Amino acid sequence: MINLNHAVQFQHNLWQEALAKAHCIVDATVGNGHDFLYLANHCAPHASLFGFDIQLAAIKATQERMKECSRRDISWQLSLGDHADFLGPDTPLDYPIDLAVFNLGYLPSGDHSLMTKADTTIRALQGALSHLTPQGMITVVAYPGTPEGAAEEAAVLEYITGLPQRDYDVSTWRPLNQRNQPPTLYILRGR
Ligand code: SAM
Repeated sequence: MINLNHAVQFQHNLWQEALAKAHCIVDATVGNGHDFLYLANHCAPHASLFGFDIQLAAIKATQERMKECSRRDISWQLSLGDHADFLGPDTPLDYPIDLAVFNLGYLPSGDHSLMTKADTTIRALQGALSHLTPQGMITVVAYPGTPEGAAEEAAVLEYITGLPQRDYDVSTWRPLNQRNQPPTLYILRGR
């Protein structure tokens, strides 16, 4: 059954189509590696996965989590640093991006001050868009539950709302009847 109460789960339905044929997949915020492992377990054979995070603890946690992945037909690499730099003009990616995923916010078990920030998130989104294949997809999960998270979400929303309709389908999904402010999913796809 499709999960209709959490953006992180709901986005899996959208990834499915992209993952079936993606050569190059980017996880812009690997954190504890849950998304990265999911992507690794569900991507097509011979796909390449790239994961970024500014915290060594996140890179290590993801490396550890990838021990649960038995795929030998994919390649993956994790890099420590700012996704805005990795997705800029000097990107280490070998191919254009078919799927990029951004799970914003902070590492739940880590330093909450090291959260994603509007300016670098938008620069990274611009970089990902500039490397996106035709009909490639970007998903962004934003967390409006803190003032910083709400400000970042507002900035992301403003940026993606301004993307030209002739080039991208831009949409959103979020639960409507939850007590706390649930994360919101934004979806960008080339057309
Ligand atoms: N996708 C992760 C998972 O499945 O466990 C969760 C990601 S967590 C909500 C957000 C992550 O973004 C944190 O690990 C944080 O260190 C990272 N982060 C914050 N700013 C960043 C930046 N500028 N570049 C790359 N990663 C960043």
